Formats: sequence, C-alpha cells, structure tokens
Amino acid sequence: MTDEEIGKLTQIYHDMLVGVGEDPSREGLLDTPKRAAKAMDYLTGGYRANLDDVVNKAVFTSDIDQLVVVKDIELYSMCEHHMLPFIGKAHVGYIPNGKVLGLSKIARIVDVFARRLQIQENLTKQIADAIAKYTGAKGVGVVLEAKHLCMMMRGVEKQNAFMKTSVMNGTLRTSDSCRKEFLSLIQEK
Ligand code: ZN
Repeated sequence: MTDEEIGKLTQIYHDMLVGVGEDPSREGLLDTPKRAAKAMDYLTGGYRANLDDVVNKAVFTSDIDQLVVVKDIELYSMCEHHMLPFIGKAHVGYIPNGKVLGLSKIARIVDVFARRLQIQENLTKQIADAIAKYTGAKGVGVVLEAKHLCMMMRGVEKQNAFMKTSVMNGTLRTSDSCRKEFLSLIQEK
C-alpha cells in the first residue's frame, strides 16, 4: 500500500478503537492504529501481488510424468465473512506435462491467494487453477485443511473442527489410482 493508503487505514483503525469503547490516546494504544494498518497491509498483500512476478519464470522443462507432491505448506488466511484468521495446511500435487514449477513457487502461489479475504473453498480452487495455468499439468490436486477462528472464538465456539476442502482437476479427477496415490502421499507422516 502507499503511505496515503496506510494513512487512511490508520484512521479507520483509530475509529474502530473508539467504536469498541477504547481510548486511542492511552499509552498502550498510541501506535496501534498504524501497526494494525501495516499488519493488514501485509495480510492482504495478495491483492497487490502479480502472479507472473511471483512465479518469475521458475518453470522448468522436465520429462517427469509422475506425481509431484508438496505437502504441509503452512496456510494463513482470513475469512471474508468475519475478517478473522483461518490457519492450517495446504497440500498440492500435480502430474507434469513437460514442465515443473520451482518448489518455493508453489508455496508462494498459496500465499498470494491466502493473503486476501477468502472462503476456503474458493482459495482451494484458485491455487489449483494457478498451478494448472503455470505448469499446464495433466492433473492438479489441492487439499486444504484449516481451523477457522470465527468458529473457535465466537459463534458455535467449536475448538477442534477442521475444515477440509479439495479440488481435483485433469487426471487427478478422472483417474482413481492417481487420486488415491495423491491422497495417500499427503496422509503419510
Ligand atoms: Zn468466518
């Protein structure tokens, strides 16, 4: 965000403190609006990221035609309904079609879409679509598992419910054996 945008957001956080009955001029809160604005800038950085820059040509030629899996990618996002975090793990698998993606880039793609206001279902699909777009893979599978703070801290206050979502495209959708291989690989400890 620009300095001007951070300034506007700082004012909004100041007003929010007043709104919840706080005194923004007390010592502990003096810099809070600006800190919160900068934190929100970071947590929503996905809106300002360019996927082409993120992937940055880290797509390599390869004749590997077997399943590639990256599991347990840390996931931090925020639900679009309450603007509260949901946190968990992403597992990504794909069957290359002549091209593979640099390992760190898969995690970066997850971050680009996670650092927005999201629902887990859409986030799962956006990650899968991006992997498919950049690799042209024969099949892409994405599984997300996350705990939603809006469910844990408020509402039904269920502390141990995990939400699992999955999107399977191409051969990972059409071939039972490919999908089973992917699912068994991400379940291994
Ligand atoms: Zn929510």
